[in-house]
Amino acid sequence: MALADLHLHTTASDGRLTPSQLVHLCARRGLRVIAITDHDTTAALEEALETARLYPGLTVIPGIEFSTDIPGTEVHLLAYFIDHRSPALQEVLARFRQGRVERARRMVERLAQLGYPLEWDRVVALAGEASLGRPHIALAMVEKGYVATPKEAFERFLGRNGPAYVEREKLPPEEAVRLALRFHGLPVLAHPNEVQGVEEVLPPLVRAGLVGLEVYYGNYDGATQQRLLALAHHYHLLPTGGSDYHALGNPDEVEPGTVGPPLEVARQLMEMAGKATA
Ligand code: AMP
Ligand code: ZN
Ligand code: FE
Ligand code: FE
Repeated sequence: MALADLHLHTTASDGRLTPSQLVHLCARRGLRVIAITDHDTTAALEEALETARLYPGLTVIPGIEFSTDIPGTEVHLLAYFIDHRSPALQEVLARFRQGRVERARRMVERLAQLGYPLEWDRVVALAGEASLGRPHIALAMVEKGYVATPKEAFERFLGRNGPAYVEREKLPPEEAVRLALRFHGLPVLAHPNEVQGVEEVLPPLVRAGLVGLEVYYGNYDGATQQRLLALAHHYHLLPTGGSDYHALGNPDEVEPGTVGPPLEVARQLMEMAGKATA
């Protein structure tokens, strides 16, 4: 078991546990440091920080996950300790979320053309107040019985090469690094093994101010972690990581605390942000 898990989602984006439920679960599982990193929203953070006060042994790092794009591949950037109370940041995030809604609408249209109609209102209801994402569409498809699991919805329809996939406007990854830094966030490249040509993607991000690389991630095996650890060392990046838990109910979902960086790495991240150590 890990003591730190620095990549977790809640109902503020496409996770299925509320911020409080997630914090309770992580405390029960013995985690010492967690980071909440919802897609394009910081709406979970106040509740999570408040709930964490019940657990003196548990530190919650406020975070976010930005979706960015370069031709041919998606690049996700985490930013820790971003100044989530900044109105200027919230304005930027509101624009990103609007782009998500428009894109989801087009994907639902695509699905109807393919013979898998969904009620748009149901997709919106599944998301609630959250930052809308493909997993909400996937859940609506499970409800309709079109697929057995969200994972199957991605594999057959919603994945990047799937027939219902629609692009949305995203930042170039360097811009997301700069955006994070502008609001005092510490930018970290998420799930690098999913990034095509990561060796070419990394150097410009490092020049822009990237501070970390996810190494201890999801279901990455030992060999993958070793390779990414070498890459992190090469660029003097902190080797971070986490489960990327969403509570989506996929069969092979990685539970919080199953994987994460050594506690020492979480401490270094906190030191870098000028926060007291756990
Ligand atoms: P979006 O933010 O709308 O682009 O959706 C991306 C999210 O979809 C990721 O953060 C994951 O939570 C989820 N996702 C991506 N690929 C899969 C998959 N193969 N199976 C289940 N969920 C996935
Ligand atoms: Zn997600
Ligand atoms: Fe991601
Ligand atoms: Fe994630």
